[in-house]
Formats: sequence, structure tokens, C-alpha cells
Amino acid sequence: MDFRIGDEQRMLADSVKAFVAGEILPHEELVERQGFVPEDLFQQVKRKSIEAGFYALNMPEEHGGGGLGSLERATVEVEFGRATRALQMICNRPAPILKACRGDQIETYLKPTIRGERMDCFALTEPGAGSDARAITTRAVKDGDDWIITGSKQFITQAMRADYMIVFAVSGVDETPRGPRKRMTAFLVDKDSAGVSVAPLKCVSNRGLVSTTIGLEAVRVPSRNILGEEGLGFKMAKAWIFSGRVMLAANCVGLAERAMGMAATWANTRTAFGQTIGKFQGTAFKLADMAMNIHAARLMVFDAAQKMSLDCLSQREAAQVNLFASEMVGRVTDEALQMYGGLGIAEDLPLQRFWRDARVERIWEGTSEIHRDVISKDVLAEFAV
Ligand SMILES: Cc1cc2nc3c(=O)[nH]c(=O)nc-3n(C[C@H](O)[C@H](O)[C@H](O)COP(=O)(O)OP(=O)(O)OC[C@H]3O[C@@H](n4cnc5c(N)ncnc54)[C@H](O)[C@@H]3O)c2cc1C
Repeated sequence: MDFRIGDEQRMLADSVKAFVAGEILPHEELVERQGFVPEDLFQQVKRKSIEAGFYALNMPEEHGGGGLGSLERATVEVEFGRATRALQMICNRPAPILKACRGDQIETYLKPTIRGERMDCFALTEPGAGSDARAITTRAVKDGDDWIITGSKQFITQAMRADYMIVFAVSGVDETPRGPRKRMTAFLVDKDSAGVSVAPLKCVSNRGLVSTTIGLEAVRVPSRNILGEEGLGFKMAKAWIFSGRVMLAANCVGLAERAMGMAATWANTRTAFGQTIGKFQGTAFKLADMAMNIHAARLMVFDAAQKMSLDCLSQREAAQVNLFASEMVGRVTDEALQMYGGLGIAEDLPLQRFWRDARVERIWEGTSEIHRDVISKDVLAEFAV
């Protein structure tokens, strides 16, 4: 496959890069120090990204979104990946699962979200169910034309800002030949519904991107707010999970390139024992490994994105690209920090932030262990005797 990007894609990458440099990077330190994005800054970045046409790039054009294909999206995500998630996620790429909106949901949820008037968050994980998503216990019980949802969610990104949530709940149990199987349903739940509570959960990665815990205490939701079909929520979530894994990998490439750029510049200027540290092979070879691994991750991202656009990306390939890129950015930011010596760990420089931010990449879109599980099972099946 040929991954050389064409003129249009290059222009898109350049304009996102310029947007990130001009509208996002100058505010990173403030957000990091405060641990949240001040409201006026949030509105400013949102407004400017809408004006620049970088808002809801992943959503269908027919509803006002950017309508980008997977390759173009991956190009954009590499550029956004250079910046802290706390700010670049304001240029919202709503949960792809929202494409399942139908009927009134399109006017009430999808289109206002694409226009930046409403904001979603994706609420699957629970205190007792992360990797093992089927273990969720939040339940939805039918009551006339409504459902009553009770349970709790954990680590939900952006729920403080969001005004509605895509909540996964168990809406029943099916008897199958392999035993009872939970029916999972996705609901669109307005955050101001009675019984919803949201509290912040502090994390060391992307400090300004506030995670949350959500309480759902007998929350009444009308049947028309079921996203997709009752009982098919999990199937739907799985169908969209690949895109999250590939785009996260693209973000990792962007952050790793930024860290390598700083490390290489430093290696060309910092002197020790009478020469710049880049002249020591021990330092120079770190840069060689960074460049090679970033390149490999980039190729994997564009290969996966191309396969996504052709609808032929396998679960194993999605796991491989996410695993490789997330571990790669961990190594690159760690080595870049090391090349700065003591200054690497100093709060005044952003390297320690890159290093902290990179850490979550091995967890939040599927842990490294889960990816290895998926990949190894596929390899074993391929060579089954
Ligand atoms: C900052 C942040 C933001 C997040 N945002 C969201 C969000 O917006 N919405 C949402 O729904 N979720 C979100 N998550 C949750 C995220 O998807 C989970 O953290 C992730 O799936 C892992 O689940 P867990 O944390 O419960 O860990 P667990 O599943 O409890 O795993 C604990 C450890 O056990 C290992 N393990 C588990 N099963 C296996 C296995 N089969 N084989 C080998 N090892 C295994 C894991 O790899 C891990 O090392 C977020 C998480 C973080 C940290």
C-alpha cells in the first residue's frame, strides 16, 4: 500500500497543525497548572475550532459534520495528538456511536452535538467492570414507556462538561445454549435528569481533562432515548471500538514526534564533556530508535485507517496498532525525558507532562494486556493444529 499523502491531505494536516500551534499549545501550561480548562478558554477554543471547520470532523456531512474518511481523520489526529487532550478534545469528535441516532434523536442529540450546542460523553466503564465490559451491573428496568436506570459509572471523560451521556445498562437477560446472557442497551441520558450525579476523579495524565464518576439513582429515561436497539448496545459499541483504537494510535504518533523534536533539539545544544550530547552514541542512538519506532507506528496507523475505510480492519490489527503506538509513545517520552537529565523531571518543562500524558494511552482504549490477549488468541487460532 502507498501511504504518501496527497496535496489535499497535506493541506489539511498543515492547517490543523497551525491551529494547534496557534490556538491550543499557548494555553497548555495554564490548563496543566489549574487542573481544568477555564470556561472562557473552553468556549474560545470551541468557537475557533468551529470557525476553522475542525469541530465534529468525524461526523457525517449530511448532518453538518466534517465527514472525514478514516485516512484523513488519522492525518488530523496525528496533528491533534501533539497537544494535551484537555484542550484538543474541545475540538470535539463526538462518540462515533452517535451515528446510530435515528428519528427525533437526530434533531435532539446528533445535530446540536455536531454544531457544538450540546456535548456527549460515553459511559460504559463501572467500578466493577472495565476490561470485562460484560460485567457491568447498571440496570435498566422497563416502566411503562420509560426505563428506570440505576447504577454507577467510573472514569467517564468529559462528563462534567457534557450535557448528556451515552449510558450502557443491562436491560434484561437472555437464556442461550451457553447459559444466561445479559442484554446490554445504550441510552441517551440527559445529565440534568433527576437522579444523576457527577463527581470529578483526578488523574495524573492530561490533568486538565477531568475524569468523573457518575451516580445513576432511579433515573427515568423515555424509550425513545434508546440508541440503536434494545439489547444491541454492546454489539454497537464493539462496532465503533476500532475507530477509537486507531485514532488513539494516531494521537500517540503526534505526541511522540513532539517529544522527539524536543529531545533532538536539546541533543544539538546541550553540552557535556566538551561536546553536544548528541555526539555521544548513547544519546544519538536513542534518537534513532525513536525515529524508527515513530515511523513504524505511523505506517501501522495509516495501514489500519486505510483498512477501516475499506471495512476490512480485523480485531487483531486494531489491537496491534493501539498496542504498538501506545507503548511506543511511552518509550519515546521516557527517553526524551532522560535526555534532558534533571531538567526532564522539572515541572517548568513540558517533558514530564508528555511522559505522564503518555501513560494513560496503555490503559484507556483497552489495556496492553487485553490487546496482547486478542492478538495472541488470533495467532494461536491461525496456527491451530
Ligand atoms: C483517564 C481515563 C479516562 C477514561 N475514559 C472513559 C470513558 O470516557 N468512558 C468509559 O466508558 N471508560 C473510560 N475509561 C475506562 C477505561 O476504558 C478502562 O480503564 C479500561 O478499559 C481498563 O479497565 P479498568 O480500569 O477497570 O481495569 P481492569 O479491567 O480492572 O484491569 C486491571 C488490570 O488487569 C488486567 N487484566 C484484566 N483482564 C485481563 C485479561 N483478560 N488478561 C490479562 N490482563 C487482564 C488489565 O490489563 C489491567 O492491567 C477511562 C479510563 C481512564 C484511565
